[in-house]
Amino acid sequence: MTRSAELPSARLLIVGPQGSGKGTQGVRIGDALAVPVISTGDVFRANVKAGTPLGLQVQSIIDAGDLVPDSLTSEIVRDRLTQADAANGFLLDGYPRNLGQVGDLDTFLNGRGEPLDAVIELSVPREESISRIAQRAIEQGRTDDTEEVIANRLAIYERETAPILDVYRERGIVDAIDGVGSLEEISARIFAALAARGITG
Ligand code: AMP
Repeated sequence: MTRSAELPSARLLIVGPQGSGKGTQGVRIGDALAVPVISTGDVFRANVKAGTPLGLQVQSIIDAGDLVPDSLTSEIVRDRLTQADAANGFLLDGYPRNLGQVGDLDTFLNGRGEPLDAVIELSVPREESISRIAQRAIEQGRTDDTEEVIANRLAIYERETAPILDVYRERGIVDAIDGVGSLEEISARIFAALAARGITG
């Protein structure tokens, strides 16, 4: 996926609690806007599966539902954003996850004169996200989808990730999207919000 340089840039984040459907919506946005979707969770899981040094380093952290250190995570994202297919846009899913990572991303993007264009905040009630995660646990068998680890991940979301939205809200780049409804309905809300900012495929 490479977004043509003739189109307006589409440097995007999608933020929402576990089970908000952001992974699914992220893929749809990536397809529609021709931008690569960069999921730090997917990068870590792929490395764990392949048994790489990075995978061995992060496996126990992921299994506990804790956050991988910022320095390591931000370096991976910087490397990925430097690749040619991300030159005119990308969608980050699952990063930044706390204020330290917001600072790391700002430093990188400001250094290139390429600020974020929009942050999609996907909201779902807590009960709904828990039932979606439980469903995913059955379908995908993720090692970090156990009840105890899910509770830890949701607590970290509330404590560390939700505050990043305040920073982006102050910049006027957050689009709050109701994440309850059919896949199509939710996608339509997201595309309408992005179109209002002049971001289309
Ligand atoms: P996710 O699929 O986004 O829920 O990520 C799965 C796991 O990968 C998380 O519970 C963390 O252990 C780790 N992870 C993913 N993204 C990050 C991040 N931005 N910072 C730190 N750890 C992360």
